[in-house]
Amino acid sequence: MAHVINWRLDFMLSHPRLFEVMAEEPELSFGCPACQEGWRDVLERMCCRIEDALRRNETFEFVRIKQKFGILRFGWEGEVSEETRARIEEALALAEARSSCTCELCGAEGDKYHASESVMVRCERHAEGRPIMPTRANERLHLVRVVAPTVPPVRIVRRYDRETDSFVGPPVHVDATPPPDR
Ligand SMILES: [Zn+2]
Repeated sequence: MAHVINWRLDFMLSHPRLFEVMAEEPELSFGCPACQEGWRDVLERMCCRIEDALRRNETFEFVRIKQKFGILRFGWEGEVSEETRARIEEALALAEARSSCTCELCGAEGDKYHASESVMVRCERHAEGRPIMPTRANERLHLVRVVAPTVPPVRIVRRYDRETDSFVGPPVHVDATPPPDR
């Protein structure tokens, strides 16, 4: 298990402004990612965007990063401006979107599978269980449900272009019920 802990520790230490790492037991740090290494690239992209958004006097700390129903979910705390908050929420939404079409084991493009009573994202090589209907809007775009940066937050469905790591066009659907947790 040492390897598993190492990538997580290495990842957190390379983003010191975003993580409070417990020196004695780093894997017990609040923001320690509870997911597999295939999503590390997703997390790196997200952290770069957040670091870029943060201003000098603003604070930010991840308090939760986990895989739930085949998608990354986050919790964070901090003191930031409205403008920075919007950029952070956009970075989190892009990471949610990318995780939902990226194999959690190897980082290749993947789809959702139902196995062992849960949902996971796997590439063809690592697939297990049965595939859930592919969520591609077409050859290139994925339809993804993400949290919109509104007050209160709501879930929206957007088209995500994995190649350019960006959203395309306006939301396809808006779910008025606030997400129970993110
Ligand atoms: Zn894979």
